[in-house]
Amino acid sequence: EAKKKGRGGYRFYSPDMTRAASRRVRVEAELRRSLDERTLAVHFQPQVKLSTGDVVGAEALVRWRHPEWGWVSPGHFIPVAERTGMIHPLGREVLRAACVHASRWRSEGLQRVAVNLSPVQLEGEGLEEELRESLAEADLPPEALELEVTEEVFLRDPDRASRVLSRFREQGIQVAIDDFGTGYSSLAYLKVLPVDRLKMDRSFVQSLPDDSQDVAITQSVATLARELGLEVVAEGVETCAQARFLRETGVQQAQGFLYGAALPPERWEGILNLSR
Ligand code: C2E
Ligand code: MG
Ligand code: MG
Ligand code: MG
Repeated sequence: EAKKKGRGGYRFYSPDMTRAASRRVRVEAELRRSLDERTLAVHFQPQVKLSTGDVVGAEALVRWRHPEWGWVSPGHFIPVAERTGMIHPLGREVLRAACVHASRWRSEGLQRVAVNLSPVQLEGEGLEEELRESLAEADLPPEALELEVTEEVFLRDPDRASRVLSRFREQGIQVAIDDFGTGYSSLAYLKVLPVDRLKMDRSFVQSLPDDSQDVAITQSVATLARELGLEVVAEGVETCAQARFLRETGVQQAQGFLYGAALPPERWEGILNLSR
């Protein structure tokens, strides 16, 4: 009875809506299966010191290749994982893989590995224990691990976020603010939670050095970071002109396709040797 109203349409629900809902259910089921079967992968994107070109860090990025759909973007399935709680086992796998590989690469000059933390992970119980276990299992010093959080964590539950992250920092783990400048939160959190690094969002980098607004924003972020004693990592660096401008503006590190996309761990050995 909901059918057949109007021209070939459905009156009381939209076919697009049901299709979207069933797609969501499908993605959820398939993601759960990949988690169970341990077929998610972790790739690593180089972070480079602008003054020397050395690879100093690696950001762990989760990768999902579905047998039928091909590569599925994290932007698509991370929200599903967050909504369903699958982010906890998923995050644990990424953390473990990141620590194990970083431990091997440290002897080749890598300083740190960065892992993205979802606000949902931060709000869950047991993260502290997982961190301790992953570090111990990989024999990785806490200083070699960096957690990337977005400003969103300070909007949701600022007190809790500051408390939890401060505790991690006391243990020596580093903290970076990811996508810095896009999060609508106030800068006040930088006083409550002293962080180590700001990752300048790629939307500000994209049109450098021609866009005068982005130039102004980059200069301000560099100044702010210098005054607060923080490092800046520019995200999404794709051209030499961007890299040159960032270096001259006082940004210390960069990450982006200019230096390389995220690579599977087996392709990393060569990278570290080359950069030294
Ligand atoms: P993010 O943490 O800001 O990661 C940077 C994203 O920019 C990555 O996309 C990376 O592949 C992409 N990227 C790097 N360099 C360039 C460049 O030069 N140009 C352009 N256009 N893009 C570049 P990816 O891997 O699709 O990840 C998207 C987002 O998904 C990440 O943003 C992060 O928020 C989230 N994510 C990825 N892996 C994980 C994970 O293991 N756990 C959690 N919680 N979130 C993750
Ligand atoms: Mg990140
Ligand atoms: Mg980012
Ligand atoms: Mg992002």
